[in-house]
Amino acid sequence: MTSNMNSKKSRRRFLRDAVTIGAGLPIVGLLGSIPIAIADDASHLSEDDPTAKALKYVHDASASEVRSDTTAFCDNCLHYPGAAESEWGDCALFPGKLVNAKGWCSAWVKKP
Ligand code: SF4
Repeated sequence: MTSNMNSKKSRRRFLRDAVTIGAGLPIVGLLGSIPIAIADDASHLSEDDPTAKALKYVHDASASEVRSDTTAFCDNCLHYPGAAESEWGDCALFPGKLVNAKGWCSAWVKKP
């Protein structure tokens, strides 16, 4: 085998490997985003959480059937230390879980 033939084979192999790797990158990207999405959802408080249910928590305050103060939202609640511009934030009543900034529950207390 000549050196020229080896060079062509090597170039062909390089191109084949580059195409294979390039084709696989979007899949790797997709797979990489799935655990993040799952982890993100897992940190959100579920409306089905027993404590959330007991406190009538809802992600969308306007959907609440028991909320009487239409200005009451998680993001203006005393128990919500999160930034007002965040969609989800911590709540002192639900450690380790995030509540929706536009959510509400019956433990709402106006932030001073
Ligand atoms: Fe939202 Fe306040 Fe209830 Fe927490 S205590 S879920 S911040 S309304």
